[in-house]
Amino acid sequence: MINPESSPTPTSPICSAKGCRAAAVWVLAWNNPKLHTPERRKTWLACEEHREHLSQFLGVRGFLKDVVTLSEWEARPEGAEGR
Ligand SMILES: [Zn+2]
Repeated sequence: MINPESSPTPTSPICSAKGCRAAAVWVLAWNNPKLHTPERRKTWLACEEHREHLSQFLGVRGFLKDVVTLSEWEARPEGAEGR
């Protein structure tokens, strides 16, 4: 029950970029049509610095569906895909 590394925000998400430990600001929602059903959304988290890099990575593959801020993403009702 004791958490030795008590951080002020225990669930603060960090950037998905390799080696990056920065706090995530953006959520990149993506879908690989070969692996996922169309309504499925995988998410990557990105800091300000890596948002463009990660969205390009997904974008060139045609996987990228949406880029929203983390707070906006969390405010979304679950399962609301908008189409
Ligand atoms: Zn980053």
